Amino acid sequence: MKFIDEFRNAEAAKELGARIRRAAGRAAGKRLRLMEVCGGHTMAIHRFGIPHLLPEEIELLSGPGCPVCVTPTTYVDLAIRLGTAPCGGPEVTLATFGDLYRVPGTDGSLEDAAAGGLDVRVVYSAMDALRIAQENPEREVIFLAIGFETTAPGTAATIREAAAGELHNFRVLSGHKTMPPALRALVDSPEVAVDGFILPGHVSTIIGSEPYEFLAREYGMACCVTGFEPTDVLRGILALVQQVVEERPAVENAYRRVVKRAGNPLAKQIVDEVFEPADGQWRGLGLIAESCLAVRAQWEAHSVEPPDPRIPSAEHEACRCVDVLRGLVRPSDCSLFGKVCLPDSPVGACMVSNEGACAAYYKYGPGRRDDD
Ligand code: SF4
Repeated sequence: MKFIDEFRNAEAAKELGARIRRAAGRAAGKRLRLMEVCGGHTMAIHRFGIPHLLPEEIELLSGPGCPVCVTPTTYVDLAIRLGTAPCGGPEVTLATFGDLYRVPGTDGSLEDAAAGGLDVRVVYSAMDALRIAQENPEREVIFLAIGFETTAPGTAATIREAAAGELHNFRVLSGHKTMPPALRALVDSPEVAVDGFILPGHVSTIIGSEPYEFLAREYGMACCVTGFEPTDVLRGILALVQQVVEERPAVENAYRRVVKRAGNPLAKQIVDEVFEPADGQWRGLGLIAESCLAVRAQWEAHSVEPPDPRIPSAEHEACRCVDVLRGLVRPSDCSLFGKVCLPDSPVGACMVSNEGACAAYYKYGPGRRDDD
């Protein structure tokens, strides 16, 4: 338990909280808006009560860091359409991560479609989906590949494996997304006011810290990559506050035990071999150029044409997910939060995923049911 003890040490956390308060005190009353862009951070921040250690000058916002939350309704709709076997074609099995299973599409979720007879299997990895294809050669298996740079290498390796094994009944509907273009879209948005980014730990293990350097260089944005334990998050926040008050924007790395500036070359190489950048639609952020990963033509036998990126995601009219994902409102500002929209009956994607901001607020944050 060495690492747990070290990174969850209460005294160390209090000391970091005190240092953050001293640093924020030098901000001359300026309100500091810091955004995390990783669902793991969203959960860690609320689970460990980090906001309670911070001075009121610091506001923590959640951004587009939950892969399920940013996956548009068009993707879910297309998956359900694909699950309906074409006349005379093989029966289709959809293989999906559990988080995506309950995300609402225009006319219901994959869970609803499964209740109506679609064959939808929940898997933990792309390789699990591949095994389903191997065991069911009479069926076509479509893996619903969502996630950021963290999960893309696994999908890429699985596509290569399918090709090597001539597994013609395995295909991938790529919904993979990449974080740096989304961050550029956020800072380019006139509505979004952020002083610094808590950069994603898991994504950065793959891509490294270098791809974020444009944020400091071109936008003067404070940035810090950090991990998921309480003292990791607090160190990241301290680094951001110090950068802002000292007016020295940079990309710091407070997660050096895992993240290198250059990332993981092997993982990047396999992703580059199988995928290429493509325009994509994000819930909350809209169409972002070259922000998604499309399967290269060389591997097209194992891919499915993704949804038209120009078609926006269609949300429930009262759901504020698109604003939550840009840090414009808090989940508890949504009129449905905790009343109509609950983890067991989610109205929007941000309440479905374990990494969604609405789910995190409901479970741990202000406005949760226990506070009513
Ligand atoms: S509480 Fe539910 S309806 Fe409201 S923004 Fe979050 S997910 Fe959407």
